[in-house]
Amino acid sequence: MPFTDFSLDQRLLQTLKHMGIDTPTEIQEQAIPIALAGKDIMASSKTGSGKTLAFLLPAMQRMISCRALSKRDPRVVILLPTRELATQVYSQLRLLVANTQYKATKILGGENFNDQAKALARDPHFVVATPGRLADHLKQHHLHLNGLELLILDEADRMLDLGFAEQLKQINNAADHKRRQTLMFSATLDHGDVNEIAAELLKTPEHVSIGAGNLEHKDITQRIFLCDHLDHKEALLSRILKDEQQKQIIIFTATRSDTERLAIKLAEEGFKTASLSGELKQTARNQIMDEFSRGLQQILVTTDVASRGLDLLNVSLVINFDMPKFAEEYVHRIGRTGRAGAKGDAVSLVGPKDWVNFTQVQTFLNKKFSFSELEGLKGKFTGLKAKPQSKSKAKPAAAKQKATTAKRKSAAKATANRDRRFATGVDIGDAPMLRKPKSKLQDTPED
Ligand code: AMP
Repeated sequence: MPFTDFSLDQRLLQTLKHMGIDTPTEIQEQAIPIALAGKDIMASSKTGSGKTLAFLLPAMQRMISCRALSKRDPRVVILLPTRELATQVYSQLRLLVANTQYKATKILGGENFNDQAKALARDPHFVVATPGRLADHLKQHHLHLNGLELLILDEADRMLDLGFAEQLKQINNAADHKRRQTLMFSATLDHGDVNEIAAELLKTPEHVSIGAGNLEHKDITQRIFLCDHLDHKEALLSRILKDEQQKQIIIFTATRSDTERLAIKLAEEGFKTASLSGELKQTARNQIMDEFSRGLQQILVTTDVASRGLDLLNVSLVINFDMPKFAEEYVHRIGRTGRAGAKGDAVSLVGPKDWVNFTQVQTFLNKKFSFSELEGLKGKFTGLKAKPQSKSKAKPAAAKQKATTAKRKSAAKATANRDRRFATGVDIGDAPMLRKPKSKLQDTPED
């Protein structure tokens, strides 16, 4: 079914044509007609499935075909969990509004508050924002949402995990009227907090579900290499980079110092390489991402700060130099390739320190990986054995309960910490693998 089958304004169809987009993806095919009919949506969809246009196109169509409820208030607010994702959605929106009289602005944490207040005073029709900063402007009365027609929440699960529930409620309350439509997108619908907030924000929503969050991406070939130590990882990496014809490559490491060290090493080997980590200022991060997306660098070495949502169409290979600490991060990382129907490769280098995280990925995906080898670079490591069950007497019920509660609390705390670090762009990950002691280096199979 072509886009022309939806009743979209000619200008939108024209922009899609310029973008080289003619056939809707599954999420677009399902969500666009519901949104155009003015109904609320609760949708789950895989990363890279085209969900941005699934909400931007109906939003634009509503702008064009309906009278505004207010001349001054924003008509559409789009909320996203991170600055990078918001910037990406904003750039797609800019393409769509370019042909029209509508104004859009982005309101992100970490950027100048007064400049944002001035931008809001110019009465934009669209506001793309992170929830914390938008709630701050609401408090300062820099904008009013009485005339809001469409509220869109993208990656709602992530926003809730990052602790934005209160801000989402404030924004919802400021725009609480019968004529508001709400579209909520979430990587998973199997999330208690998402369902709770959906019950508050959405009016009898239609459910759209395209593939669960942990479904594998059919366009990505995944290979796993077992590694003995850091030098072995580096040898495998060098061989893969030299032997394989790849367009652009993203390499994920556990820590910031690793990204820098590896980026210097690869640059010395002649690759155009940039490194990105959460410690950098936002402007520096933007510049690095911009250069990479324009193809000025072939390799980006990064921590998990670049694992989510970023839309880089020329990335043909993702390498997990270190396995991610949280299994769902694996899906986000490899989702940086194989986007919009293209084929992609994902390589994971798994050493003893990665083993536990690797087994968690297998459990998360419900899949048992086989291992790949490169000639002359086969290591000795074959995986760690699971710890045998303790033979000590079963704990009494009360002690067991206490231990379970403590464990749950500590897991929740760890998740909260990780998410806070993710939100602020601080690096996440395990300690990297250590280098093998020099004296034993000759055992290492070298390239
Ligand atoms: P998203 O999941 O929204 O981040 O989109 C991923 C990528 O797919 C973006 O580069 C979009 O421009 C692209 N895309 C979105 N819709 C389509 C479509 N119908 N056909 C081809 N590419 C698309």
